Amino acid sequence: MTTLEKMNNTQLQQYLSSLSHSYEEVQAQKLKLDMSRGKPCPEQLDLSAGLMNCLSGADYKAANGTDCRNYGGLDGIPETKELLAWFLEVRPEEVIVGGNSSLTMMYDLIAKAMLHKIPGSQAPWSKLPQVKFLCPSPGYDRHFAICENLGIEMITINYQSDGPDMDEVEKLVATDPAIKGIWCVPKYSNPTGITYSDAVVKRLAAMPTKATDFRIFWDNAYTVHHLTDTRAPLLNILEACRQAGNPDRVFEFTSTSKISFPGAGIAMLASSEANVNWLKKQINIQTIGPDKLNQLRHVRFFKDQAGIENHMRKHAAILKPKFDLVLEILESKLGDKNLASWSKPQGGYFISLDTLPGCAQKVVAKAAAAGVMLTPAGATFPYGKDPEDKNIRISPSFPPLSELQQAMELLTLCIELVSAEQELAKRGL
Ligand code: PMP
Repeated sequence: MTTLEKMNNTQLQQYLSSLSHSYEEVQAQKLKLDMSRGKPCPEQLDLSAGLMNCLSGADYKAANGTDCRNYGGLDGIPETKELLAWFLEVRPEEVIVGGNSSLTMMYDLIAKAMLHKIPGSQAPWSKLPQVKFLCPSPGYDRHFAICENLGIEMITINYQSDGPDMDEVEKLVATDPAIKGIWCVPKYSNPTGITYSDAVVKRLAAMPTKATDFRIFWDNAYTVHHLTDTRAPLLNILEACRQAGNPDRVFEFTSTSKISFPGAGIAMLASSEANVNWLKKQINIQTIGPDKLNQLRHVRFFKDQAGIENHMRKHAAILKPKFDLVLEILESKLGDKNLASWSKPQGGYFISLDTLPGCAQKVVAKAAAAGVMLTPAGATFPYGKDPEDKNIRISPSFPPLSELQQAMELLTLCIELVSAEQELAKRGL
């Protein structure tokens, strides 16, 4: 039972009028805060300032003699593969280093599967009457946007505490040949913060699929993005697929966007050698090679695994107080009211908040009307439609602590306000 349900009508009306008064006071402050995307803050970007000048005019050669100023090196220079492959626990031959964005690699790969047969395909996906993807939700809105853009039908799958509802996933993929893929953010998931359990990874790797060209799109964007010293373990999906006899089932992605610079980092894809060889042939048509100077820059700046781990601890030192502040405000303002529940992530960039059903859109609109931009309600679900209209993604990374505090106080106020209005409406008042 919520605190509001316990109030009598007069109490509820008085409470609502005091909340409305507080809301008007905040509106008068004319806030202008943006918490809509999980962008690193300037202090985080400053951590990588050394990337701007770590190459000299004479330092342009990779260890194997490749002149990084020139064309070539389709799948990345060896030392970049080595620098980044450890955190996906993959071998260099399983890796393609791309450009500055893993999202581009995902879009591009699916577009290629539409146009050309991927290993195991009977036909390019665009020649089929229907292509469907499973979309564990709440999930990453840009994954869903790729599907919508390419005409892929999305099937929403509920998340449980250790990954997607695998009973549902197994049932669907076993019978429907049109289901060609599943989106997964397996570690510190965007936005729920969960990490997939070993059991879930093994079931994904081993489940029988009706489609012979079914793929897992394993977006491991937050693999080294711990907020504490407790690191969530994640089973190696490539290895699990190999052991289950489905070596070509997975394409794994990551990038340094939230390690170095978003938009000027390095993206990477890992898969079986068969998939990688197929993809290299396709990419060879599309480009003469990626930006190897940026790859070299990252190698010079980070040096090795310890360099990246040390750097990520500095990110965590900036981010953790922000996450703590958000959680403290949620707890102090809403903790005993049963009006919302929220995640307490150990890593990644987001806190996922659930309001009472039917409230999220109104809460986000009210926050916007008082100057705080949040990720649009519903964005974390396929087609932007949250079936229960309750999920809100909170991105604490960008605003300074003082602004975060203002934004969170407003958000919790809006949650109380909208919940009270809904309770009043329920009583026909
Ligand atoms: N995947 C997930 C889960 C993300 O949250 C983001 C946003 N940082 C991306 C991919 C985008 O990554 P990139 O910058 O490498 O395109």
